[in-house]
Amino acid sequence: MYDLVIIGGGVAAFAAAIYAGRLQLKTLVIGEELGGTILLTDEIANYPGFKKITGLDLFRKIKEHAQDYDIEILEKRAESIEKQTDAFELFTKDEKLKAKTVIIATGTHLRKLGVPGEDEFANRGVHYCALCDGVFYKNKIVAVVGGSDSAATEALLLTEYAQKVFIIYRKETIRAEPITAQRVDKNEKIEIINNTNVTEIKGEQFLNAVILDNPYKGSNELKLDALFIQVGQIPLSDLAASAGAEINEKKEIIINRASETNIPGLFACGDVIDSKFKQAITGVAQAVTAANSAYEYTTNLPQPNESF
Ligand SMILES: Cc1cc2nc3c(=O)[nH]c(=O)nc-3n(C[C@H](O)[C@H](O)[C@H](O)COP(=O)(O)OP(=O)(O)OC[C@H]3O[C@@H](n4cnc5c(N)ncnc54)[C@H](O)[C@@H]3O)c2cc1C
Repeated sequence: MYDLVIIGGGVAAFAAAIYAGRLQLKTLVIGEELGGTILLTDEIANYPGFKKITGLDLFRKIKEHAQDYDIEILEKRAESIEKQTDAFELFTKDEKLKAKTVIIATGTHLRKLGVPGEDEFANRGVHYCALCDGVFYKNKIVAVVGGSDSAATEALLLTEYAQKVFIIYRKETIRAEPITAQRVDKNEKIEIINNTNVTEIKGEQFLNAVILDNPYKGSNELKLDALFIQVGQIPLSDLAASAGAEINEKKEIIINRASETNIPGLFACGDVIDSKFKQAITGVAQAVTAANSAYEYTTNLPQPNESF
């Protein structure tokens, strides 16, 4: 029986593992694809203590820090969780495990645009990660769909390769952090096409154009070599929901300030929870709170869940 099983393999999961290790909880991290979303970015300039670090290096440092303590890691997918009277049963494809407490840090997966041609041209002009695939478009014309800070950051990264980068956004003004928005404004390779949606992706063997719902320079067809889709993320909350955790309309797990869900002994943190602001540092903060709450729960069973 583990004191704590953490499901997830991103920064939130391993931050929770650092605190769980220090609190000497018998801890297992079950993570499917270690690293998670932070691996999609090559420049993090807002994580306290690091003026500039790649996502990969930040993840490695957090994981190595966790491994300084006596924790176990299982690189697998957790398939289901069942709440029992005083513990949880967890299943992978091959294992059945028991834990007194569980922290869900399963993050999100990238939302699709949902237009014709998106699946057909996937990896043949349609991409979801500039860091992973931007390098294939040296001196080409590319576009990012989306208006978030992540979308703007992706566009800036693409200017290192492409000759021209459009940001296509359905609203008037992109929602990037002021410092990112300023960098976008100053970058001569970037042009924002606002109040516009991509309605279709076209091509032959590879993507060669997108159709817009508003004409750009007199035409609804915009010639492109690649389209990078950055229209948000979908929380991976099904596991938590199957254990009875309350989920909101955005599919996010609802937690309180102690990172508790409505199920005693079940905690959650990171991009999968109902936070407006989804960043590495906020996920890490909820994660360490979750580990501490798990510690309190295991050392003082049963404990009332005051906020639910
Ligand atoms: C392009 C981009 C740029 C960004 N830039 C910044 C930035 O500059 N600064 C910043 O602070 N944040 C940034 N972010 C946000 C940041 O990456 C996320 O907030 C953070 O990585 C979320 O971490 P997480 O651990 O909650 O989830 P994730 O990183 O999504 O990790 C979830 C993990 O859970 C695993 N998992 C899921 N389901 C299961 C299962 N059933 N069983 C086992 N494992 C499972 C996944 O494989 C994955 O390892 C950026 C995001 C993007 C997309």
